[in-house]
Amino acid sequence: MKFATKVIHAGVHPDPTTGAVMTPIYQTSTYAQAAPGDHKGYEYARTQNPTRSVLEANLAALENGSHAICFGSGLAAMDAVLKLLESGDEVVATNDLYGGSYRLVNTIYKQYGLKGRFVPMYDADNFEQYIGPETKLIWIETPTNPMLHIIDIAAICEAAKKKGVLVCVDNTFASPYLQTPLDLGADIVLHSATKYLGGHSDTVHGALIVKDQELADRFYFIQNASGAVPGPMDCFLVLRGIKTLHLRVERACENAGKIARFLLSHPKVANVYYPGHEDHPGHEIAKKQMRNFGGMVSFDLKNDNLEDANKILSNTNLFTLAESLGGVESLIGHPSSMTHASIPREERLKVGLTDSLIRLSVGVEDVDDLIADLKAALDGE
Ligand SMILES: *Cc1c(COP(=O)(O)O)cnc(C)c1O
Repeated sequence: MKFATKVIHAGVHPDPTTGAVMTPIYQTSTYAQAAPGDHKGYEYARTQNPTRSVLEANLAALENGSHAICFGSGLAAMDAVLKLLESGDEVVATNDLYGGSYRLVNTIYKQYGLKGRFVPMYDADNFEQYIGPETKLIWIETPTNPMLHIIDIAAICEAAKKKGVLVCVDNTFASPYLQTPLDLGADIVLHSATKYLGGHSDTVHGALIVKDQELADRFYFIQNASGAVPGPMDCFLVLRGIKTLHLRVERACENAGKIARFLLSHPKVANVYYPGHEDHPGHEIAKKQMRNFGGMVSFDLKNDNLEDANKILSNTNLFTLAESLGGVESLIGHPSSMTHASIPREERLKVGLTDSLIRLSVGVEDVDDLIADLKAALDGE
């Protein structure tokens, strides 16, 4: 099945009891048993829920995996991955990653003796040096947030495989429409389904996708034992959002490419970060591992200060100033004070995350209107 067919059909069947074409929201906490232990495969809704099962089958197909395991948020999914590790183990992660992911490793899991090491991964040839005897997990995010660096997934996985270390790729920014890391050697794919998968900014949800039974069983155990499960309504919303994933992401990419070109030409803009540009250092790898270059664009200002950035951030009309990304509507954000505020300023500056850096999540509106909106805000009209 090709991708556009999978988003609509994979794992989805008319409801066996009524024939309902759309997967029902099974809003129940428990299931009747005919005799003790005599049930239809569903006992208690933390453990199994039919709406969730359909979404899990669909997600597994989209990422070319064997199993998907859903959670109440992207961070709850990450939490489940970190629970594979033990005190003294080390996770090596990209140094330019989602602020909440950094926080989870460096605060909560630090208390339990887990070590986090945040390293540059863009230079895959020199990556092996970072894998030590205690390294048990490699955490990749690509394109990275918010600098939109590209990490060579296949090359990092090859280095990891040599040393028998698990690799998890946070595929939230690309979505499975643009990139399928399991095909490139990753063991685990993570999604904040809150973003492109849900696609309508109306739910918080997370998922892991794997390609082997053993890891799947460990994650099903954690899903049930720790209990960070999504509700059936949220599973329904993500399942519905996925049906148009390919259409939304395709349009977002097209719009983002045009907006990135517009920003390059604006006199107040210093740097534009977009992997679709030929002079972007990760452009060739992006072309190799992605179908298109994504809907995210970051840029900063020649006057690198918060005041000038603030003027733009509060003067757009169509771009809403808000955290998050991946919805049909365009959002504008300020990583250093919003999504990445939990990362110390010196750390932020090291990766180029300046005070004036602005991140756009480009939606599916008419691109001429979006460019006019940005132009007015930049010109200070
Ligand atoms: C939003 C996000 C997360 C966290 O997901 P939640 O659903 O908000 O918990 C993790 N990784 C990336 C790249 C994200 O954008």
